[in-house]
Amino acid sequence: MSEKFQVNSYNKVDKCTISWYNKNAVEYKANKMPKKGVHNMYEIKISKDFFQMIDAMAETEVKPSQIMSELKEHTPPIAENFGLEKVAVEINIPHDMIQSEVKKHLQLFDSERNGIYKFEQKHDIRGGGTIKILGESNLSEAKEKFELYAKIAYVMFDRLLESQLLDRALVTDNLTGAKNIYGLRKFVDELKDTGNISDYAAFFANITNFKYVNQKLGMQNGDNILRSLAQRFDEEFAGEGDIFRLGSDNFIMLVKRGQAEKLTEMLKSYYVTLDSGESVHIHFKAGIYYADSDSGIKELINYSTAAYSSAKVSGRDLVQFEPEMIEDELRTESILEAFPDALENHELKVFYQPKVRSDDLKLVGCEALCRWIKNGKIVPPMEFIPVLERYGNIAQLDLYVIEEVCRDIRGWLDAGIEPVRTSVNISRRDMALPDLAKCICEIIDKYQIDHKYIEIELTETYGSEEMSKMVKLIDDLKNYGFKISIDDFGSGYSTLTMLKSINADIIKLDRAFIKDLSSSSVSDRIIMRNVVNMVRDLSKEVIAEGTETKEQVGFLSSIGCDVIQGYYYDPPLPKEKFNERLTNDKFYSTREQTKK
Ligand code: C2E
Ligand code: CA
Ligand code: CA
Repeated sequence: MSEKFQVNSYNKVDKCTISWYNKNAVEYKANKMPKKGVHNMYEIKISKDFFQMIDAMAETEVKPSQIMSELKEHTPPIAENFGLEKVAVEINIPHDMIQSEVKKHLQLFDSERNGIYKFEQKHDIRGGGTIKILGESNLSEAKEKFELYAKIAYVMFDRLLESQLLDRALVTDNLTGAKNIYGLRKFVDELKDTGNISDYAAFFANITNFKYVNQKLGMQNGDNILRSLAQRFDEEFAGEGDIFRLGSDNFIMLVKRGQAEKLTEMLKSYYVTLDSGESVHIHFKAGIYYADSDSGIKELINYSTAAYSSAKVSGRDLVQFEPEMIEDELRTESILEAFPDALENHELKVFYQPKVRSDDLKLVGCEALCRWIKNGKIVPPMEFIPVLERYGNIAQLDLYVIEEVCRDIRGWLDAGIEPVRTSVNISRRDMALPDLAKCICEIIDKYQIDHKYIEIELTETYGSEEMSKMVKLIDDLKNYGFKISIDDFGSGYSTLTMLKSINADIIKLDRAFIKDLSSSSVSDRIIMRNVVNMVRDLSKEVIAEGTETKEQVGFLSSIGCDVIQGYYYDPPLPKEKFNERLTNDKFYSTREQTKK
């Protein structure tokens, strides 16, 4: 019979027509609007009430109470008009139905007894529950009209269910059933509206051995563990908080302050029994932030994750937020953000610290050390270099410094000033760059600078993999004709191994050694003397950095330390100042005399 129906609604007209088209009529319609009378199978005249109901339902808020009240209001006149003696809607939906899918299943029953026709349209809902729409009439043809009414009513309920499902899907994490970030936003908004946010503590928790779990026990078990956490949380803290998955194995848990202790305990010893019966200890690291009345979602996330980051760095499992943590993060962020422009605008300046030969006090070299001139203030490297190292930008800086050094050396050469060998610092992280040696060499060659003017300072490395990379780098650099020095020698653990396996030209004794000399015990001096002897026996040059006093200089010279660098002679100098050292007399002996 009918394939499709079309509704023509006329504004402010009491009677409307609903026409059913058969298949042919629909095809005909594709060519041209059907002419009246040609296509009609039959017509039903219905009242404006019906369309009013459709309009009202379409516009109403998709809430059960609203839909019911619209139905209640509009049904009687429609029923009357449709020749229905009775219309009833029976709804039976379990409370948690919205968790399951709606089964799209319509059934229309009809029966006749004593001249009364009964109609029933039933909708089964997957996961339990039904919506039944019932009608009675003494006219058998009212069946079609009833069906029309019932379908419209059903569509409204369907809309309601779908929208509730959608609402839920929007705030729910598919895998675990925990809420997602939108759920967190909603939860926090509600707490803020009711002024209860400060009753809560936010935990940012991450499973530390999750990678291991996935690799060793399989993804399936990994997923189960995530699910179990959401479930377990709900069991333990129903009504006292909620759990939100931010992705991967990262969760935010909001609990009432009084429950924080309990949650801490749960995270400290959390075991999951796998399908295989095996029990696995799941380790967490977490950051905790106790909300105050001003806290919003941003604070909850940022502060609990800042505490978590601090837990990671300090190696502890649970750390509570402190304001300094965010200051660190802000500083880090501002460095990373400003760094590209700083490079571009040459806010990073190279300072040169003289190196003085101990036997004749001649300026024989210098170390290039960078300074960031930020808003007229000098930012020391210890404030930004560790950040750049951590976030992988240090190579950019190091190559930039090399280029600046080359530009300066080129300038001196062009001005007829004889430069001294300048050492540049190369971070261990730079070894991740493929062809690092070639890269360095290309920059230097761009300025046509004799390789004898450049020395590369590398720090001690740990681990055999890094060590072999470093051996290769040093070989490459030496093949290009650069001198290599090992920086901060003696501060690491692998010092003697380094000495044996690395083909460096110069050993720079760590500042800590020289500092200790002032409070010198006899044994310190013996160690120093022998280290210097050993290095010299290996035909390497020894340089002492961080030399601040006359006594230190005296001792270092007496044990045969070749070169001295430190505040005693000069701090790192801006280029212009260092220029003076290069152009004037290169001997510090004359300056020593004037000092006296
Ligand atoms: P470093 O390579 O060990 O550099 C020596 C540091 O000791 C410099 O600190 C220098 O100013 C300081 N110093 C020199 N003489 C004395 C002294 O007599 N007493 C004391 N107390 N300190 C002295 P600075 O310039 O603050 O640099 C710190 C560290 O930052 C450097 O340690 C180096 O590791 C890193 N750095 C600096 N520039 C660069 C760069 O361009 N690239 C890389 N990768 N690291 C750099
Ligand atoms: Ca250095
Ligand atoms: Ca050093």
